[in-house]
Amino acid sequence: MSPISTSVFELFKIGPGPSSSHTIGPMLAAHDFLEDARSLPPDLLARVASLEVRLYGSLAATGRGHGTVRAVLAGLLGHRPETCPPDILDAMSRFDSGAVSLDGRQIVISEDTVVFDYLTVPDHHPNTIRLRLKDDSGAVLHEREAYSVGGGFIEWQGQAPPERPEVPHHYSNMTELLEIIAKTGLSLPEVLMANEMALTGLSRQDIAGKLEHVMRVMEDAVERGLEEEGPLPGPLGLHRKAKALFERYRQDPQMQDRPILALCACAFAASEENAAGHTIVTAPTAGGSGVLPAVLYVTKNLRPTAGVFRKDLREALLAAAVVGMLAKHNASVSGAEVGCQGEVGVASAMAAAFLGQVYGNPAHVIENAAETALEHHLGLTCDPVQGYVQIPCIERNAMGAVKAFAAYQIAAAEVPGHHMVGLDQAIKAMAETGRDMCAKYKETAQGGLAASVRC
Ligand code: SF4
Repeated sequence: MSPISTSVFELFKIGPGPSSSHTIGPMLAAHDFLEDARSLPPDLLARVASLEVRLYGSLAATGRGHGTVRAVLAGLLGHRPETCPPDILDAMSRFDSGAVSLDGRQIVISEDTVVFDYLTVPDHHPNTIRLRLKDDSGAVLHEREAYSVGGGFIEWQGQAPPERPEVPHHYSNMTELLEIIAKTGLSLPEVLMANEMALTGLSRQDIAGKLEHVMRVMEDAVERGLEEEGPLPGPLGLHRKAKALFERYRQDPQMQDRPILALCACAFAASEENAAGHTIVTAPTAGGSGVLPAVLYVTKNLRPTAGVFRKDLREALLAAAVVGMLAKHNASVSGAEVGCQGEVGVASAMAAAFLGQVYGNPAHVIENAAETALEHHLGLTCDPVQGYVQIPCIERNAMGAVKAFAAYQIAAAEVPGHHMVGLDQAIKAMAETGRDMCAKYKETAQGGLAASVRC
């Protein structure tokens, strides 16, 4: 198995919700396709009369509810996920038609540019997107195929991933990472930091600044969500609940269950912002983007603990990131590939690792916390009602945050050496369970709650 060479900031992507694979990935694919097309031979570009973006598999099945059309159109119009306005998808819902410039020619785009191909079964990846330039007879002049493989990552057909710089610490699973930590005496965040500096060429200080920015965007999503009320976009008519939950939290300072209520309110807040298509951080995906921000927000702002400083929070973010990277490297973080165990399950494991690190525990406790959280999400299907990232997704994020807290408490109380299941084993089980899971439970909105709930 090749060593992990993913940057922390490829895992923590900033962009519009509600789905990293169905919104952020397609936006990026559309943007990059058109950018590359601009360097095609001028005689070919002179014949381009239209653009077509065809969606297959899970993208076709749930793309409407996941905002894929608006994301693709925004990408064609030149927006990138990390720099687009926070309410870009709101703006795109008012978009009727427009034009993109290609070698001086104006090519008209509208909702009809994006075609949902429900019948063709993609043979390479369940989230397949094919982008085409056509002439005025409809003949294809240029075509590329992309795969939105989860967490906002895109792979292009026939294109090898770019060469990565050599990293000082080679590991492809948690066992190898623990061996490095034992051999070098470095902490888990120090190993991550050294690799991150090699991968990005950034200084320690620059990486710290970028981690602060990621945390700020996560906190912003929570704070915006705690203020909002009313129904979320889409046909379900689902009302936001974060503000009401937070009111209950504020009204009763004596309540015994306050930490649980705080976690739920914050997870609802960030997840509702995601469902609204507003800016979030993938952790590891947009669908699971309420879990880690909730744990961060509660730890930092609502239950601040003496001795936890900003540096500890940044290091905890690195510990969370490594869990997401291990899951992506050895299984998947895509609901279309392994169901919700790869999204909210991995998010919960990341949040448990965050808690393990922020409270200064050794690496084996961090591993145990992540493993315990993931273990109790194994088998979790992806069944969004009507294809909207709302039911069960929003509540599921709250449950993921609460489970992360419980997993950390269990791991912290464990006698060293008594823990019997490793994170690598849980990730392997997730991959195998995902492989065996029937397609209707993998982000197609055809099974589970999506089939039994009629709104
Ligand atoms: S059920 Fe889970 S994996 Fe599926 S869309 Fe919702 S959050 Fe994502």
